[in-house]
Amino acid sequence: MKRMKDCWPTIVLTATVLFGGACATTLTDHAAWIYPHTDALQQGMAGARARGLVLTDYHIHLRGGMTARKAAERQQQSGIRSGVLENYGREWPLHDKASLAAFIDEARSVQADARRLPVGIQVNDRDWYQQIEPELFAQLDFVLADTMIMGVGADGKPRRLWLPDVTIDDPEAWMRDYLAHNLRILDEPISILANPTYLPPCISNRYDQLWTEARMRQVIAKAVERGIALEIQTGSPYPKPAFLALAKSMGATFSFGSNNHDDVVKDPARWFEAIRQLDLKPENLWSLPDRP
Ligand SMILES: [Zn+2]
Repeated sequence: MKRMKDCWPTIVLTATVLFGGACATTLTDHAAWIYPHTDALQQGMAGARARGLVLTDYHIHLRGGMTARKAAERQQQSGIRSGVLENYGREWPLHDKASLAAFIDEARSVQADARRLPVGIQVNDRDWYQQIEPELFAQLDFVLADTMIMGVGADGKPRRLWLPDVTIDDPEAWMRDYLAHNLRILDEPISILANPTYLPPCISNRYDQLWTEARMRQVIAKAVERGIALEIQTGSPYPKPAFLALAKSMGATFSFGSNNHDDVVKDPARWFEAIRQLDLKPENLWSLPDRP
């Protein structure tokens, strides 16, 4: 179904409508950034409530038309809290003091349910905590990192492991480096490890062989020791159920994330599935430290 984008939210439309020639849509009953009121959503939310869980999406990028106001509206319509962030690093939208300060100011000005939204960054350079201005770091509610950039590519730039041209000659040797990379990131002052146990497409079919229990235990133990949440992301196959179950048994905490590229809401089915399968309780969910 085609949905309304970059237009007035929460307007019930029953036919193709033009708003001043700037915005067109076809049959729809909600704005793109609002969760559709499906039975699956109602059941998932009822299940979460029955367990005493308050869900927060800590991985809402403000990009591709997504805004803090839309995130606030999504929270008010769904009861799933919205945490907003954007990428910080040398080749990323927030790349210096001015761009980061402007992002924080704008995002912190938006409220939902009479509270401002949690505001964070996703970090991409491994020296980010040495580069960031301490007074800006202090204004952040959370910092999210994934492990999906490692080493240097042929172009001399940080290698983005998700790109299709990434090849790995010796997966076992690479995996030893990758585990060390994971553990180094968990030593950074981050709050959430996004998309844990990610593997590049060229070796994704070796997950069980490469992510041995011993390796998984090292990642989980470090996250537990450092109080870092392990993310369960919509639409991602990572981490696999064996990792999640092991993490829960070792006392890890979990967070939920979307990782959107535009303002279209993503299906939260994977969160609800994890809640059921892992029998999550409030103490299993990461919670935001109190900050002003
Ligand atoms: Zn992200």
